[in-house]
Amino acid sequence: MTNHALLSASSSNRWIHCTPSARLGEQFENTTSEYAKQGTEVHALCEYKLQRALGNEAENPISTFEFYDEEMEECTTAYVTFVMEELAKAKEVTKDPIVIVEQKLDFSNYVPEGFGTGDCLIIDDETLTVIDLKYGLGVLVEAHENPQMMCYALGALNLFDGIYDIQKVKMTIFQPRRENISTYELTKEALYQWAEEVLRPKADLAYQGDGAFQCGKWCNFCPAKQVCKARAEQNMALAKYEFQQANLLTYDEIENILSKVDDLVNWATDIKEYALKQALAGKTWNDWKLVEGRAVRKYANEEEVAKAVENAGFNPYEQKLLGVTAMTKLLTKKNFEELLGDFIIKPKGKLTLVPKTDKRTAVKITTAREEFKHTEDK
Ligand code: SF4
Repeated sequence: MTNHALLSASSSNRWIHCTPSARLGEQFENTTSEYAKQGTEVHALCEYKLQRALGNEAENPISTFEFYDEEMEECTTAYVTFVMEELAKAKEVTKDPIVIVEQKLDFSNYVPEGFGTGDCLIIDDETLTVIDLKYGLGVLVEAHENPQMMCYALGALNLFDGIYDIQKVKMTIFQPRRENISTYELTKEALYQWAEEVLRPKADLAYQGDGAFQCGKWCNFCPAKQVCKARAEQNMALAKYEFQQANLLTYDEIENILSKVDDLVNWATDIKEYALKQALAGKTWNDWKLVEGRAVRKYANEEEVAKAVENAGFNPYEQKLLGVTAMTKLLTKKNFEELLGDFIIKPKGKLTLVPKTDKRTAVKITTAREEFKHTEDK
C-alpha cells in the first residue's frame, strides 16, 4: 500500500464525477508541492496539540518544521479549541465519548485500495463526528455531500459500527484561514445507501479506467488537466459564443460570458504553463520559441555597493517602517496589540464582482442619481 492510492479520498470528488481521470492521471508525475509539505506540518502540529489537550503524551514536532510561523500556531490552536468544544458537546450527551486522533481509515470494501487518515473522530451515544482540518486558502471547502468526508466516515463506520450504536454521521470541515466551519449531517443508512449506489459503482469504473469524461471544477485538481482533450473540447466550445444580432453585447450576454470566463482563464493558463514546461525540457514548437523576458538592472553585490556609496560620503540606505506582519513578528502579537492596537485600521477591500452564490454580503452601490434624490428628499 502506498501513500498515493489510485482512488484516494482526497481526489474522490474528481474520480466520482470523471471516472477515467484516475487512470489517465497515472501517467503524470506526482510531485509534492510546498503547500502539501506545509499541510503535513500543520497536521502534525494539530495532532501534537490535540493529544496534549486530551492529556496524552506527545512529542512537539516544531523543531523539524520548515514552514512554522505565527499563523500556523494560531490556526492549529483554533482547531484544537474547536475539537475540544465538540468534545464538550459530546460529553453533554454521553459520559465517556471516544476521541480518536489521526486515525487510518480503510474504506476498501467500497473503493479498491481506498484508505485515508481522519484528523479527528468523536463518538458519542449515537453520533459519529468526523472532523477534518483544511489549511488551504484558495478554495472554500464545503462539507455538504463532500465525498472525501463521506469516505472517511465509511472508514470510521468500518471500525466502530457494531461496537457502538451509531445512528447519525456528522462531518465537519474546519478551515481556519477562510474562517469556514462547514458541517453536514446524515443518517448512517443514508451514508450506506450512497456508498452502495454511487461510490462503489463509480469506484469500480474508475479503477478500470472506464466511464465518460466529465469536466467541472474538479478538473483544476486533475494531473491530466493540461493536456486532457475532453477539457480542451469543453473549453473550446465555451469560447464559441453564439451572439444575438447587434453590434454590442447585451447585459444577458455579458452575464453568460462571465459565468464561463474563470474556467476559460484557468484552462488557458494551464495550456501556457504546459507548453512552457515542455519548451524548457527541450521540445521545439513549430510557431513558438523561447526568449528572454524583460529584466531590470540590479546590484551584483549589495555590500560592495553600500561601501562604495558610504565611502563617497552618501547614505545608501532608506529608513522604512516595518509592515504589520513584520512588526507583529518583532514585537510579538501581545505587545503589538498593546502598543499599536489603536493605530490599526482595516481599509475596505477593493470591490470585486463574484457569483451570487458567494457567501460574502453584497455591497450596495449608491448611484449619483440616487444620492441626488436622497439629498433632494431631505
Ligand atoms: S481534466 Fe477534467 S475531464 Fe479531463 S480527465 Fe481530468 S477531470 Fe476528467
